[in-house]
Amino acid sequence: MAAVEDHPIAPPSTMPYPPLHADKKFVVLSDWDGTITNRDSNDYMTDNLGYGIEKRRQGNLDILSGEVTFRDEFRQMLQSVAANGHTFDHCKEVLRNNITLDVGFKQFYGFCKANDIPVVIISSGMAPLIRAVLSKLIGDEESQKIEIIANDADVDADGKWEIKYRHPTSGYGHDKSQSILPYRALPNPPTTFFFGDGVSDMSAARHADVLFVKKKPGMDNDLSAYCTREGIPHVLFEDFTHALRVVQRVVEGKLSVKDALALGTA
Ligand SMILES: [Mg+2]
Repeated sequence: MAAVEDHPIAPPSTMPYPPLHADKKFVVLSDWDGTITNRDSNDYMTDNLGYGIEKRRQGNLDILSGEVTFRDEFRQMLQSVAANGHTFDHCKEVLRNNITLDVGFKQFYGFCKANDIPVVIISSGMAPLIRAVLSKLIGDEESQKIEIIANDADVDADGKWEIKYRHPTSGYGHDKSQSILPYRALPNPPTTFFFGDGVSDMSAARHADVLFVKKKPGMDNDLSAYCTREGIPHVLFEDFTHALRVVQRVVEGKLSVKDALALGTA
């Protein structure tokens, strides 16, 4: 696993970070799209409102192969949605009506709450869209309690919009390692669990104590392909019900981080 020293220079962030949960024993950091949700909302928008699945899928493959950066390709995907005349508010409504929650997430979140484990969403999507969908899925009050570290959107009065990157100088647009590395630098770091599923998680993959990669039956699994290629240990999980079994055993001290990773599948 890469050490903190591998990243001596953090890309400047255009947005603040919430304080670290430095006094906790465990911290859950999770991708939003396609991980906590069943389908990726940005893929959904690009496929249905933007330039379509074929071009979008090719874009993902080009990111995976390193031919293009996530930042530049993802911006184009979203621009194709805005260029077709879909306002930001319209996108919000479409996503609220079409994006559903992982079947086990509520139970997983309940376990974390009961055990004083913060759950932080680490996303390359846009925070206002995530908040809108999350409040629909788990309720306004509960959704306000979950921290979101994501990108944002610049929205004009006429409804035109564009993604605003957290780390515009990084090829990741949002370098997710920047939400994990500060934990590793603490004198008594909490155990970090990271959950992800796609190319937007490549920047995080090496850095958490336990990386969970969501299985995508019948769909492409870009993060799994990346981790296999790069030799990054990870635990495949079908949904959060399965992941919970592993997290619970680690939290209860019945399973070490090393043994958790050795499972390979939750
Ligand atoms: Mg994702």
